[in-house]
Amino acid sequence: MNKQQYHPNTLSVRAGSEMTEFGENSEALFLNSSFRFNSAAQAAARFGGTEPGNIYSRFTNPTVTMFQNKLAALEGAEQCVATSSGMSAILACVMGLCSAGDHIVASRSIFGTSVQLFGNILKRWGLEVTFVSLTNPDEWQAAITSKTKLFFVETPSNPLTEVCDIKVLADIAHQAGAHLVVDNCFCTPAIQRPLALGADIVIHSATKYIDGQGRCLGGAVLGSKALMEPVYGFLRTAGVTMSAFNAWVFLKGLETLYIRMEAHAKNALALATWLEAQPQVARVYYPGLKSHPQHALAMRQQSSGGGIVTFEIKSNANQTAQQAAWALIDATQLISITANLGDAKSTITHPATTTHSRVTPEARIAAGITDGLVRIAVGLEYIEDLKADLVFAG
Ligand SMILES: *Cc1c(COP(=O)(O)O)cnc(C)c1O
Repeated sequence: MNKQQYHPNTLSVRAGSEMTEFGENSEALFLNSSFRFNSAAQAAARFGGTEPGNIYSRFTNPTVTMFQNKLAALEGAEQCVATSSGMSAILACVMGLCSAGDHIVASRSIFGTSVQLFGNILKRWGLEVTFVSLTNPDEWQAAITSKTKLFFVETPSNPLTEVCDIKVLADIAHQAGAHLVVDNCFCTPAIQRPLALGADIVIHSATKYIDGQGRCLGGAVLGSKALMEPVYGFLRTAGVTMSAFNAWVFLKGLETLYIRMEAHAKNALALATWLEAQPQVARVYYPGLKSHPQHALAMRQQSSGGGIVTFEIKSNANQTAQQAAWALIDATQLISITANLGDAKSTITHPATTTHSRVTPEARIAAGITDGLVRIAVGLEYIEDLKADLVFAG
């Protein structure tokens, strides 16, 4: 299939698929751990790399390969390395490309667990990390050392949907001989393609929109063949491999990615616009709103505002901001109270006491995660039912 000829919507349905001799129209699930060889000589050739082919599913598996090739086509990447989760995608990226003593500059506004991985665990192994403001390129420039290997961002960020200029940060990274990594979890390639904007590496938690129905954990790292080789080398040795079953679920998820993301974004824009008009809401964070501080930049980099809406609820005479946020969450009957996102089912969460609860209070305030903040990952339910489910007290 000539990837250049087809529209991304067509690629999401068709790219990467391969048929076995049985001619199945839906991709086969290869639920096997190892592969048989015709002879000892063939086994030796496979292990020696002189003959291509599968050996063992920790290394490669045909269903996982189909998933990798489909996602690579959508992100415009030479290569994709599928992993067991979004966090193991970040781990494999860093373990593949950095060594003890190296330095990473990371946005302060990243997934709470990513902060833990960089700031606690990898620090114990000799990696230095400097956290800076996502939206201030001067801080990135100032943080560079002779050991800086990676810049790491999420754009839009979780949960405040801040947006950085990918090209500007890529240029600063490249001048320092470093690579820009973008966690593209919130947008997916249906909305934003970081590699085309100048980034070197894209990270995914496939658990979110790539699955789209909250079933499986998975992740991916994408980039040039040269950058992905050591990432794959870490994965096949350390075993943070994606399971074939999960890859099969994600292959099905990717087929509907483009139409799902359009529907998520349409619902999210409608909900964000409605929330902005509610007297109990102090502020709404959504890149698709004109009031968003980086609205113009977001609309240049993204085809829509995406599906995540965050807002700050006001305290009132009877309630602190946290009590007001919890009361709103507890009053929901339809929207699921869970921290996951990217599901057909809308989800609601209080970041300060869940996803970001292990971040120190100082770091939380610096990242703008206040006690009144509520995040909704807007699903595919009928929009009027979602609005009716948000009952503000006071
Ligand atoms: C969920 C998430 C991750 C981690 O993914 P897992 O699949 O849960 O390991 C990383 N980055 C972002 C932005 C996420 O939302």
